[in-house]
Formats: sequence, structure tokens, C-alpha cells
Amino acid sequence: MYCAHCGCRLTSSMHTEKYVLKSTGEVRTKQYLRYMCYQRSRKLCDCDGQSVYSAEKVDKAICNVMSDIFSKISDAPDEAELKREYNREMQKCRAKQTKFNAELGKYKAQYDKLNDEIANTLIGESLYSPEQLSAAMTTVQQKIGAINHQLEKLNNEIEFKKVSMEKVRPMYEQFKGWAEEFRLASIGQKKMIISQVTSRIELGKGYKIRITLNMEYEQFFEGWDALSSGRKTE
Ligand SMILES: [Zn+2]
Repeated sequence: MYCAHCGCRLTSSMHTEKYVLKSTGEVRTKQYLRYMCYQRSRKLCDCDGQSVYSAEKVDKAICNVMSDIFSKISDAPDEAELKREYNREMQKCRAKQTKFNAELGKYKAQYDKLNDEIANTLIGESLYSPEQLSAAMTTVQQKIGAINHQLEKLNNEIEFKKVSMEKVRPMYEQFKGWAEEFRLASIGQKKMIISQVTSRIELGKGYKIRITLNMEYEQFFEGWDALSSGRKTE
């Protein structure tokens, strides 16, 4: 865990606090674990963060952030259902692709016919004027352009979905399992899970937490966000 202000590692220490019971005047002590910015406590740099944090509060804050992260996936479908959903989406895309390609073929054939007809106008054997033909050709060309544009968009969408799925799949079962476990886990188990999925945790003034996930989980979430935003727009 690192200080969000100067970037140095936080150290933990047991702190003993003495306090006086007002009713009897008896002096008691209580111990608690705390984290400190080492550089700040030794004035080794001009860190403007907080120098001492209660470990209990920190742990709670981290668990809250992780709960938010995990809540995105804990109710997600299992991997088999995810795959079925993905395949359905892909099928829809391919059906659209086929339809666009058929339309494209049709318009290209029209264009060729019109082009051939031009030769007939040159020898005076056409029912149409060259102007009429060229206007018709422009219209067909525009239609071809529009379909090509749609096809390109569709191809990008397919590629995007594929890449997202590839990012999600390797960690899906594990991450989903942990997301479900996390809710019911003891603080010790939670810490273990957190240490598995994070690469860096920064702590700042007012117990602000910034969590950086491991590369593989970072990738997972990129893919996951992409796939689930696709689902929502359906
Ligand atoms: Zn610091």
C-alpha cells in the first residue's frame, strides 16, 4: 500500500493509546494497528498527505471499493450462458452481414447494367438519354457507398466483440467466483482475494482509496465493460 500524495510505501505499526476513565480516574490502554506515510513521519519529503491512518478504517474503505468493483460481475451469467449470449450476438451480426452483401451484389449488378446501357446510347439504340443513365448510376453508386459503410461498421463491431470476449474469458470463472465469495468472506479472506486481484493500492487524505487491478483483471474489466455496454443497448 502506498501514499497517494508522495508515492512512498506505507508502513504499519501497533499504536498504544492511553486514556483515563472519567468515572474512576483509572488509566487504561488500547492498542490498534495504524498505517503511516514513512516519508512524511520522518519529514523526508514535502508530502502533504495524512501521516497516520487507522488500519481498521483503511481495510473497511478498501473492502467497500472492492465490493463496488465485484458487484458489476457477481450477478453476471455463468460462463456457458455468457458464451451462448455471445454466439447469439455473433449470429445476428453475421445474418446482417449476409443481408448487406446480398444487397451489395444486387446494386453492383444494376450498376454494371447501366454501364452497359451507356454503350447503347452511343450508337443510338437506347431508350434512355446519357443524362438519365448517369443520374441513375450516381444513385446506385450512393447506395453502394452507404452499404459499404454499414458493412465496415458491422465488421468493426464483430471484431470489437471478439476482442472483448477474448479478454474476458480466461479470468471469467475465477473472477466471478471471487466476486460471489467476497460478499460473504471474512475480513481475512477478503484481504487474500484483494491481494490476488490488485497490483497497487494508494491511500490518501480522508481515506480516499485508489485501487489498480492486476493486468489480467484490468484486461478482464475492459472486455467486460465493452460486452455489458453492448448488452444494455440491445
Ligand atoms: Zn506521503
